[in-house]
Amino acid sequence: MKTIGIIGGMSYESSLHYYERINNQVNKIAGGLTCAKLLIYNVNFEEIRVLMLENKWDEIGIELAKIAKLLEKAGVDYIVIATNTMHKLADYIQSQINIPIIHIADCVASKCKENNILNVGLLGTKYTMVEDFLVNRLKQNGLEVVTPKSIDDINEIDRIIFDELCKGETKSSSREYYKNVINRMINENGIEGVILGCTEIEMLIKQSDLDIPIFDTTQSHIDSIVDYSLEKNLIKKV
Ligand code: GLU
Repeated sequence: MKTIGIIGGMSYESSLHYYERINNQVNKIAGGLTCAKLLIYNVNFEEIRVLMLENKWDEIGIELAKIAKLLEKAGVDYIVIATNTMHKLADYIQSQINIPIIHIADCVASKCKENNILNVGLLGTKYTMVEDFLVNRLKQNGLEVVTPKSIDDINEIDRIIFDELCKGETKSSSREYYKNVINRMINENGIEGVILGCTEIEMLIKQSDLDIPIFDTTQSHIDSIVDYSLEKNLIKKV
């Protein structure tokens, strides 16, 4: 079994799901008392959030790379960045270590392709929706990706993530907001599926809320991590 190193805490609400489900799924497959070999470095998200708001991405990169190096030194075989947004820094972090990062976009793109869904909408933080780091990686995996076109929608989706979901709050008014944005992308862009490109959105939006398939980055990431941990998978180069 391989050992997984998770950079977590962004937010801890979603890192809890990683910890619980990776162990559950490994145990379901391997049986007995087997659980995953893993280390989690939980950051203080408040400190990172301040740097995000000050646009100090270089400092965040240095901090996350330092953590990845610590995990590598501690003996993990793979690094997992348990947030979509911080994949903005994935290439830099990868350049600082000698073990692979299991990239969240590759994991969710595989799920879309397994289901023959290539034309997808993407929801996430404003960084994930407006910048191209995740969109491009999804495109390199063969997907067509649409993000909400209204800046008001982008800001409100982002606000709900940081003000509510990252604090464990799920409000029905926010669920309705997300559903309306997704339904507009279905009508205007003909998307066939939607990627929940933020590790907290699955707390708000379930498959039963929508008529098109949802592809959740948290669960897709976890499924791949379990495969890597049980050595059922090899890192594929995009
Ligand atoms: N967990 C979120 C994501 O998947 C947002 C928190 C962050 O900015 O890292 O993007």
